[in-house]
Amino acid sequence: MSELRQDRTTGAWVIVAPERGRRPRQRSAAAPAPDRAPEPEPPCPFCPGNEHLLPGIVEEVSAADPPGWCVRVVPNKYPALRPELAPQPLHAPFHTALEGYGVHEVVIESPRHRADLDSLSDPEISAVVGAYHRRSLMLMRKPGIEAVLLFRNNGRSAGASLRHPHAQLVALPLVPPRLRAMTDWARQRHRESGRCVTCEELDIERADGRRLVEESAHFLLLVPFAATVPFEMWLAPKRHQAGFAEAEAEELADLGVLLRRALARLKAALGDPPYNFVIESPGKGEEGAADQHWRLRIAPDTVIPGGFELGAGIPINPSKPEDDAAALRAAG
Ligand SMILES: [Zn+2]
Ligand SMILES: [Zn+2]
Repeated sequence: MSELRQDRTTGAWVIVAPERGRRPRQRSAAAPAPDRAPEPEPPCPFCPGNEHLLPGIVEEVSAADPPGWCVRVVPNKYPALRPELAPQPLHAPFHTALEGYGVHEVVIESPRHRADLDSLSDPEISAVVGAYHRRSLMLMRKPGIEAVLLFRNNGRSAGASLRHPHAQLVALPLVPPRLRAMTDWARQRHRESGRCVTCEELDIERADGRRLVEESAHFLLLVPFAATVPFEMWLAPKRHQAGFAEAEAEELADLGVLLRRALARLKAALGDPPYNFVIESPGKGEEGAADQHWRLRIAPDTVIPGGFELGAGIPINPSKPEDDAAALRAAG
């Protein structure tokens, strides 16, 4: 059973989930390159024909070609949080702890074991992003859920335990501190200037151009001014919208194509690095807010944080964002 525990000296939260330790993992230290998720202990639970290894199927997007689906959403077999637990405090006399209530789902992005997001067709990537969106909305509506994180770990060192292309959603009974801090910061800036700070930032970046990688009908792809790691990228909607849930069908299709292009650029520039991406969208109750603005953030996992980062909480980026953007533009 998992628990959410709070460090009473810092206010920071941690999920203690011992069962996650039982996930299938590469056993030997020799074998595949660290930038590739390990081949699964056969058979792969996400491949067609191995449905008996799944804990269930939440939903599926049908396709004309065999195996008859292109995207599947399934419960995580080793969930960090569980829907059957109650969002209530645990008895811990001197500490704050909650039962590990929440939902942990997996979006299987293709029936093909070796597919990559950058190899999907327009309709396929559109179905993937559509599933991200639909599940985010559904989970946010659940009682007791305060925030939904959608993320993707690509490559073993970035946390992927299975090679088969997939993303994950975790619905939480609290707004994670990092999202809370972003929300508060944006609210304060909006009070001062009367404008959404992200809309303002996108205007600045578009006018400057040095960190801009690409612009589509509805999104900007850029390397942020204060990128935390080399080749970090943001995909942000040009139209003001507080949460990912507010994106419309046409914008989602555009997002899929631009996301595919961003990952292809990353592969061309860095040679298939491990990476994480996450949709940074505010918590429940911020729908339609004038001061919040979501984005999808891609962070290649090429720098190992050291003691300074651990102590200061300030990343050291050894790469200049303007140079990374130029390399990514050239890699298109
Ligand atoms: Zn597979
Ligand atoms: Zn905005």
